[in-house]
Amino acid sequence: MAQVAIDTKKYLSLTDKPSEDHWQKVYGIGSKVPASGIYRCTTCGDEITSNKGDQFPPQNKTQHPCQDEKIYWELIVMTQTKGSGR
Ligand SMILES: [Zn+2]
Repeated sequence: MAQVAIDTKKYLSLTDKPSEDHWQKVYGIGSKVPASGIYRCTTCGDEITSNKGDQFPPQNKTQHPCQDEKIYWELIVMTQTKGSGR
């Protein structure tokens, strides 16, 4: 599970747009990362950081124990990058 320190918790905020696609959808291997941030594997809970516009990593490069099942990533923390707004 992603962590923050008591002193860095203030840098996180609840989104005011939780219905946006990148919060609602899950993304398969090789699909395009919709927003920069921390993503969680819906099967094993492994977490990765990915940048908007990149591809999610291939299944054979993930070290998590659910290799036999189809892997989907869900956004758990979106980073705020200057310029892109997300
Ligand atoms: Zn996994």
